[in-house]
Amino acid sequence: MSANTTPVWFITGCSTGLGRALATAVLERGWKAAVTARDPRTVADVVSGHEDRALALALDVTDGAQIAAAVKAATAALGPIDVLVNNAGHGYLAALEEGEEHQVRALFDTNVFGLVDVTRAVLPGMREQRSGHIVNISSLGGLAAFGATGYYHATKFAVEGLSESLAAEVGPLGINVTIVEPGAFRTNWSGPSMRQSATRIEDYEATAGARRKSTLDTYGHQPGDPERAAAAIMAAVDAENPPLRLLLGKVALDVALARLDSLRTNFTTWRDVTLSADYPDHD
Ligand code: NAP
Repeated sequence: MSANTTPVWFITGCSTGLGRALATAVLERGWKAAVTARDPRTVADVVSGHEDRALALALDVTDGAQIAAAVKAATAALGPIDVLVNNAGHGYLAALEEGEEHQVRALFDTNVFGLVDVTRAVLPGMREQRSGHIVNISSLGGLAAFGATGYYHATKFAVEGLSESLAAEVGPLGINVTIVEPGAFRTNWSGPSMRQSATRIEDYEATAGARRKSTLDTYGHQPGDPERAAAAIMAAVDAENPPLRLLLGKVALDVALARLDSLRTNFTTWRDVTLSADYPDHD
């Protein structure tokens, strides 16, 4: 983090879940926070009692004018932003063929372009300070993909790639990037926040259909604790050498390690065919 002993955090999507838990923990720690939500009334209680160093702000990350206004208001009231947490996001259940264009575009607008637009609004201030930390909430689903959530995975794989490039670009300017990859956490993600296609194709019931159900069934008894996730994210940001990636929860660790094994097996099994594609005389 910056040398600033009372860093300024700017967090998106704080009405519920991980964003709310993180904003609460940051303020309990004595740090400053712009606590943003589409409806700022939903975060009034988070800010309450911390009005000297916290601000509730209206922010729909798909609204460019609101992004500019929120970043400006946060900086004016709290000082330069030290830590940006791009947390706002939602899921969408549909087999690829069942996907509805308006829902898919809305998903990318929030999970990818919203994150990009908020980041672009905050970066000039961080570059000027030559310090800062951008925390992008991706998902285990940004590393491994399953049926019924292909469009969601596509947004989180996009977040992974963008974040990795960003890290290479802003690292030399003193700005850290951390990609957070939670497994299943007990938030509204698989419950009230989840969207799904009205279109259902019978041929996918045994695959995507079954996984739609199992995803919805996790609601209320996911193993991940948002408060512990908040503590883990703060520890990563506070670390002398912050990680580029932070998996959260045992499910995330197990699935990510299995994914690495399966990638290695795939690549090494096909090694000879892979190598046959180069010009023979090229080093
Ligand atoms: P959540 O309880 O549903 O919270 C999502 C938050 O994002 C809400 O505050 C919601 O606000 C906000 N949001 C949605 N669209 C928005 C927009 N256009 N502009 C601003 N805010 C918006 O779920 P969560 O689990 O805490 O989700 C937080 C992040 O974690 C998401 O990026 C999600 O993909 C990721 N994640 C979650 C899990 C999990 O198992 N929970 C796992 C991996 C990754 P409203 O109240 O206004 O809708």
